[in-house]
Amino acid sequence: MDFYTLTKQETVKQTQSSLTGLTEHEAQKRLQKNGKNELKDTEQKGLIAVFLSQFKDFLVIILIIAAVISMFLGDIESSVVILAVITVNAILGTVQELKAQASLNSLKAMSSPSAKVYRDGQLRVIDKSDLVVGDVVLVEAGDYIAADGRILDNASLKSDESSLTGESVPVEKEDTDIHEEKPLGDRKNMLYSGSFATYGRATILVTAIGMQTEIGKIATLLQNTKEKKTPLQASLDNFGKVLSIGILFICALVFMLSVFRGEPMQDAFIFAVALAVAAIPEALSSIVTIVLSGGTQKLARENAIIRKLQAVEGLGSVSVICSDKTGTLTQNKMSVQKLFFDGEIVDKDATLTERQAQLVIDGALCNDAKDKDGQEIGDPTEVALIQFSNKHNLHYEEVQTKYPRLAEIPFDSHRKLMSTVHKIGPNYKMLTKGATDVLLPRILEMKTADGKKTFTAEDAEKVMQANLTFSENGLRVLCVCEKDVPDLNITVEDENGYILLGLIAMQDPPRAESKDAVAKCKSAGITPVMITGDHLITACAIAKEIGILTDDKRGVEGKEIEKMTDEELKDFVKDVAVYARVSPEHKIRIVNAWQSSGYIVSMTGDGVNDAPALKQADVGVAMGITGSEVAKDAASMVLTDDNFATIVKAIENGRNIYNNIQKTIQFLLSGNLAAIITVLFASLCALPVPFMAVHLLFINLLTDSLPAIALGVEPHNDAVMLEKPRPKKQSILTKKILASIGLEGFVISVATIVAYLFGLQSSPETASTMAFATLCLSRLFHGFNCKQDMPLWFSKKLLNNKSLLYAFGIGLLCLNAVLFIPFLHGIFEVSTLKTVEVLCIYGFAFGTFLVIQLLKSVRKILKK
Ligand code: ATP
Repeated sequence: MDFYTLTKQETVKQTQSSLTGLTEHEAQKRLQKNGKNELKDTEQKGLIAVFLSQFKDFLVIILIIAAVISMFLGDIESSVVILAVITVNAILGTVQELKAQASLNSLKAMSSPSAKVYRDGQLRVIDKSDLVVGDVVLVEAGDYIAADGRILDNASLKSDESSLTGESVPVEKEDTDIHEEKPLGDRKNMLYSGSFATYGRATILVTAIGMQTEIGKIATLLQNTKEKKTPLQASLDNFGKVLSIGILFICALVFMLSVFRGEPMQDAFIFAVALAVAAIPEALSSIVTIVLSGGTQKLARENAIIRKLQAVEGLGSVSVICSDKTGTLTQNKMSVQKLFFDGEIVDKDATLTERQAQLVIDGALCNDAKDKDGQEIGDPTEVALIQFSNKHNLHYEEVQTKYPRLAEIPFDSHRKLMSTVHKIGPNYKMLTKGATDVLLPRILEMKTADGKKTFTAEDAEKVMQANLTFSENGLRVLCVCEKDVPDLNITVEDENGYILLGLIAMQDPPRAESKDAVAKCKSAGITPVMITGDHLITACAIAKEIGILTDDKRGVEGKEIEKMTDEELKDFVKDVAVYARVSPEHKIRIVNAWQSSGYIVSMTGDGVNDAPALKQADVGVAMGITGSEVAKDAASMVLTDDNFATIVKAIENGRNIYNNIQKTIQFLLSGNLAAIITVLFASLCALPVPFMAVHLLFINLLTDSLPAIALGVEPHNDAVMLEKPRPKKQSILTKKILASIGLEGFVISVATIVAYLFGLQSSPETASTMAFATLCLSRLFHGFNCKQDMPLWFSKKLLNNKSLLYAFGIGLLCLNAVLFIPFLHGIFEVSTLKTVEVLCIYGFAFGTFLVIQLLKSVRKILKK
């Protein structure tokens, strides 16, 4: 059906709807019958596919080959153990991957686009997937078009249809009838799903949903939901590969040494393979995924919805936050404080004269906010005007009904103006409200207490002075003007030649938490920058109040940076804390300038034009409440409370999450190193093998994975906000971490070797049992060492991670079961130990904990 060739009435008839939309009951019926408004997504991997993908890993393939070879060599026991380990690992991996997938999906659903629809004659916000054919939908600048629809009512709507037609310039829409056949891009009376409104407003009657929409027909354009690996995941994958090759090389060496010493080939082979399994940290990449996706849940509980996993990592290294003012640093609760009329400042509580009241009424007429059952909805700037007119009993609703809006040019943050046309008396009157500095040069006359007069330079000076006084007090100023127009065809060119009515100044107090959040940023080495569309002086007054603007920094207007080259801007941005009267293009240049000096930038945005800057920033942050759908889509994080303090909290979380990943890596690598050193020692000294294959596999499963996952969920530490941001290029394996891995691995290997040599006095079996038990237990203790850099003596933090305590408890229980239950001795190839040997194991293992803590204390003293 070509709906664009139908008139509005015909479309209404075809869709069996009405110009005011459907009833909720009818909509539900249609939803049941025709299904949801969804595109069939690229299929997500199911359980079996995820499970099978676990076997694609390079290391797992090596292990499978080893198991097969052992089976042929007749060592059924080893191959069963290896296969069991691989299967358990694959099950763990599958559970983790599915959990991570589900948690990301649920987060995406939380920030999924909504639609504004008229049901039962009332405007409601619903999930876009619940739209049905026949719904009447309100589309405003910044909205994604959620279904195909015929335009019923159009107010300068422009729509970006590039995803459908490839045309990058937004198309101006109309609500006229089209009678001939037209290509998609010229069907001006239709809006199509997959495009978005860049400007204006319109209502549409939905004509197609889901796969019946134009975009639904082009299957290739469907979004790919596959999550890319984060830089950290990718670099750890690479690191894991390099490390694996190194370890395989060592294994080959050990194998050759064993064969050379005359051990049976088969034993030497199985042993080398087991060493590889124990030494390679194959859990690394899946643990990083668990920690990152676990972090997103915590962030969501604290009002920050992560849309791209990279953002969690990026947050930890953010060094500049460029934030909007209105609503993010301030409460976005505007209230009119003062008026300026005919050269005089009028207080909010003063009784208004008729002409002063006219100024307020005109502000309420040129207005999109609504008063619904005593609750005002809309832009707080406009709500403030309605509330103020109510306060003075000016009956704005009656006036709105008497003088309905006949034409309009919607507000946009570029023009900083909004105009509407009403028939007042015999004439069409255009009312315009907006930024004083934009309107002032366009004023020719002004209203006074006695009527109209020419607007002189002296009058202009007075207006500027009033504007300055208001702004210095942190007030937002709106200038209201009017003019007569001959007809309803108004364009932006008509926004000229005005009669000034007056100024309205309103207050938007800073959020209570902004000041502390700014202070926290500064102590964490993060530079907060305010970027606003508001007036410079207003912005500076608020920035000073909350601590963003200090004596060593300055505030500038966006236009100042227009003349600068990128090179000049690079130095310039470092001295600027406030940018006012900024347009979205300025935002991109500011982000670029910081980034080119190596800073990691988080940028907030809400409007449709902010999308490019949000994409350019390292962590683009969209406003969940006031943000447009387009901005949310471009951002990597969405704030459900629009609050600056939430960004700072998210950065704190990001830093902690990164630290936890670092602790996990330190734990895994130092423990593995200890195993390698011990084996190499035995090999080089031509001593019997210190570990049986099954020992290393036991360690790998129990003492590797559990404490590592537990360290990934270490309780967060406030002290991270006293450190400087981490440089972007800095590897997660810093010199300090590498040194710790080396030293701690060495300490644990010494204990293991000593236990081994002690056991060797009895028998090779006792020696290997002691080496295995000491390594295993030392690694369980080592989990606590990796909790923090600082020594843990008398620290309350020693026992603050429940997961780690459980991991320790489970590990200890299993190890003791293996050592003391005779039935298990055969399976795990351990021998019965004497009491003194058991005491040695406990002593040596706990000894490693004490020594490592002592080393931390020494380091702390040396640092002081
Ligand atoms: P930010 O959210 O970026 O901190 P902002 O909300 O203050 O900035 P804009 O909404 O772009 O910035 O507003 C810029 C200017 O436009 C304001 O200073 C005001 O003078 C004017 N303005 C704001 N809202 C309206 C409106 N609804 N109608 C007319 N003019 C407006």
